[in-house]
Amino acid sequence: HVLLVPFLARSYSTGSPLRREESTAEEKGLGFKGHDMLAPFTAGWQSTDLHPLIIEKSEGCYVYDSNGKKYLDALAGLWCTALGGNEPRLVAAATKQLNTLPFYHSFWNRTTKPSLDLAKELLETFTASKMAKAFFTNSGSEANDTQVKLVWYYNNALGRPDKKKFIARHKSPLTLSFHPNRYHGSTLIAARNISFSPLTLKFFRSLPALHQKFDLPAPFVLHTDCPHYWRHHLPGETEEEYSTRLANNLENLILKEGPETIAAFIAEPVMGAGGVIPPPATYFEKVQAVVKKYDILFIADEVICAFGRLGYMYGCDKYNIKPDLVSVAKALSSAYMPIGAVLVSPEVSDVIHSQSSELGSFSHGFTYSGHPVACAVAIEALKIYKERNIVEQVRSIAPRFQEGVKAFSDSPIIGEIRGTGLIIGTEFADNKSPNDPFPAEWGVCAYFGAQCEKHGMLVRVAGDNTMMSPPFIMTPSEVEELISIYGKALKATEEYVK
Ligand code: PLP
Repeated sequence: HVLLVPFLARSYSTGSPLRREESTAEEKGLGFKGHDMLAPFTAGWQSTDLHPLIIEKSEGCYVYDSNGKKYLDALAGLWCTALGGNEPRLVAAATKQLNTLPFYHSFWNRTTKPSLDLAKELLETFTASKMAKAFFTNSGSEANDTQVKLVWYYNNALGRPDKKKFIARHKSPLTLSFHPNRYHGSTLIAARNISFSPLTLKFFRSLPALHQKFDLPAPFVLHTDCPHYWRHHLPGETEEEYSTRLANNLENLILKEGPETIAAFIAEPVMGAGGVIPPPATYFEKVQAVVKKYDILFIADEVICAFGRLGYMYGCDKYNIKPDLVSVAKALSSAYMPIGAVLVSPEVSDVIHSQSSELGSFSHGFTYSGHPVACAVAIEALKIYKERNIVEQVRSIAPRFQEGVKAFSDSPIIGEIRGTGLIIGTEFADNKSPNDPFPAEWGVCAYFGAQCEKHGMLVRVAGDNTMMSPPFIMTPSEVEELISIYGKALKATEEYVK
């Protein structure tokens, strides 16, 4: 595995230093010459030296590769296949809609019934604060980019042309293409949000990639603290005190920039791609108070957290967040069709309506906004969540999932394991210290990811962090299997580090 060193970037992106050997064989004899697809978030795909892992089939919480090897899909695709890999009702909903009306758009006051029905259903699911309208996109990134345009439009309508800046947290997975620790997506604006968070390359190597060579981040995105207690708290500081300090830092940033220039604050209830970072105690309470004080909109990026992942329908329910705008995607259709949405509060939507009436149009949208097949699938997914009481289902398996994985916290190569509900992250570190990362060239976390893969489980690897967010439908025995493979991979990684 010393081979890991020269191919570090690739192993980070593929999570599999082991496949390096396969691909060498391919290069020598079998003629793998790279493929024609410009693959997302992948290094080395353009060349001939890495063979991709080709997934061919899914079944419940498992996926199968092109050699028939079975893997427990511990990341649920990309934090999204909430109902697993072969839910027949979602397939039936798509098929029925394809046979009736495979497409019609929603421009110029024309639309389709599935999009109207989904908007109604979706708004009913969100109860943390009142939401009046749903705008459909094809992804979480588009939802976050839409947020930027909506917020600008809103402030223009209110005659506040200077109130245009966004504040994102370092490491947040935002809509606004924020940053590694703050990932909100990878469209221009979302990635710029990522630009929201200038990743500390040393600690989190994947998010900076969102900005590298893309002229990002965006100049209108400011960054405030990543609320990571373990990494950033001062000696003797409690979680509550730490949250107070972060809220003060946020307020100072707002005052320094001028509150009249700050339009919105964007945050995920639990940061996902930034390494799974649940908020410290009292964080959202304090941060919301600051944001409200300066008439700044709160955007909740629920792309990962929504529909049950945290054991609540929305992350906002768990943390008592009362947002003005919400982004959802992923589990909205259990990822069976690409779809995302923005939920808009009555206050914001009223202003947008009056402005668009004056202008004659609300000129934002996509050909596939409210795609009828995607909406039909999402309606069925929401129905299933309700009928099967998915929140209770998550609550029934989450404690064992959390406790089983966190039991490995004592490992000498683990700095911190953190998570809640069905999302968990492990940060590898030496001496249990956030200040002692292993040398990047050792590829410790990539090695762990490769070991998981070897033992039949797929996880996300990013820098020193590995993340899991399994389907909501996991059975107790699948949770045990996950914990067991995690343990085997960890043991092998401890040996590797020795
Ligand atoms: N927001 C968050 C919190 C995410 O985790 C992601 C993707 O993982 C996005 C936005 C972007 O979503 P998409 O990949 O659907 O564009």
